[in-house]
Amino acid sequence: MIDTKLLYLSGVGPKGSESSIGNRLYFKINNPAVGQSFSDHIGIQLSIHYQGSPNFNYNDRASNNPNIIKYLNERTGPFTQYLPVLFAHFKSNPNLSRPNIEIMISPSGVGGYDRNVNSANKFQVLLIHMSQKGKTRLTLDENNSVKYPSVYFTNQDDLNDMVDALYIFLNDILPKNPQLSVHFGPGGYSHSNLNPKSKSDCRAYITGGEEKYGVTYSKMIMNHFTGTVPLLEDASLGGVDPQSLLVRGTSNVHVVDASIYPGTLSAHPVATIMAGAERASDLLINVIADPSIDTTSAPSTTSTTKAPSDAAKSPTTAPETPTATASKSPVDAPTTSADALSPSSDGIVQTTTAPAVDNNNKPVPSTTDSFKADRIVTSSASIHTYLLLGLALIIGAIAVLV
Ligand SMILES: Cc1cc2nc3c(=O)[nH]c(=O)nc-3n(C[C@H](O)[C@H](O)[C@H](O)COP(=O)(O)OP(=O)(O)OC[C@H]3O[C@@H](n4cnc5c(N)ncnc54)[C@H](O)[C@@H]3O)c2cc1C
Repeated sequence: MIDTKLLYLSGVGPKGSESSIGNRLYFKINNPAVGQSFSDHIGIQLSIHYQGSPNFNYNDRASNNPNIIKYLNERTGPFTQYLPVLFAHFKSNPNLSRPNIEIMISPSGVGGYDRNVNSANKFQVLLIHMSQKGKTRLTLDENNSVKYPSVYFTNQDDLNDMVDALYIFLNDILPKNPQLSVHFGPGGYSHSNLNPKSKSDCRAYITGGEEKYGVTYSKMIMNHFTGTVPLLEDASLGGVDPQSLLVRGTSNVHVVDASIYPGTLSAHPVATIMAGAERASDLLINVIADPSIDTTSAPSTTSTTKAPSDAAKSPTTAPETPTATASKSPVDAPTTSADALSPSSDGIVQTTTAPAVDNNNKPVPSTTDSFKADRIVTSSASIHTYLLLGLALIIGAIAVLV
């Protein structure tokens, strides 16, 4: 989310919408997609009671010494992973082609201040919608801090899916193990007034109060924020150019994080973010190392860079070998300073690509080349030092002999 705020405050966003987004904003660079499609996975949680003897009390780590020793000696047991979290997936509607709901099970409990909710025999179950449709615009408060985005269960399809999912979980999945029962949830200790066999009561759980005993159990954020500076093929829509990862309308602002994914990811996001970052490193090596690549992002449906053409379709595909050539003349290096930005008639900034020169009109090396030059100067200076030292020793030796 932070890049959206930075872009807003830097004057990049949907021109004309400033007053509905934040305080005293002015979007000099028009990018209609910035901040408009915030998305997050949405979820609810339950506490489940296990009628048996747990062999691992997550709330009492001091009693887990045997497990710690086991881990240190054998590298086995519960301490081999942070939170022994389990995942399963199912469909909220049997007609779907693939599962859309994730069951995430964690022994850490559901939180809150009622210890009875999180005792040794209880564990947390999160039901997470992995294909939700709800999106919202990201706005700033009067201090221009990001406002809490209210996207959670605002979309009726998402809500209906979650009602079905909760109903299926309570009536089909959970009863498969008679040792399990709801403790915090419909029909349990926390919501004994709700009937788990009633869909309208399941709906009431999902849309009801946002907290009980200090437990936030519905409208839960998953911190899987995406979509605020999206990759978009159609340049007229703004967003980020998939070929160069440039924010459209700018010449030198690349975005490489969760916000570039335009839709909902069907999994927890980090693996995809890392794959995107790998891909981005190849794209940016091309842009930085090959000065002949035009990094402008004028509104156009055609690519403006020489980056591999499949990048837009799949930022997570295996990186190709970069075609970097660092031996180009530094005269070719483009300037990308803010001074070179000039807004076009539609508000999208064009970049003027002029050779970098100093005050005397002499070529200035690019960052890459000056780095290399420094290294060469340093190493050649060392060689000269050793040669002079050797020569002095030889002259000294001759003088002694004479
Ligand atoms: C508690 C929690 C648990 C999670 N668990 C999982 C999980 O199990 N699996 C999973 O896949 N995902 C998980 N996520 C989601 C995952 O962490 C995020 O999707 C991912 O970190 C987003 O990556 P990012 O690079 O977009 O942003 P971030 O990782 O948030 O990186 C943004 C960076 O920008 C820096 N920054 C902020 N402002 C500025 C500024 N003005 N100048 C310079 N730098 C700045 C920040 O310090 C930060 O380092 C979890 C998230 C949370 C909060």
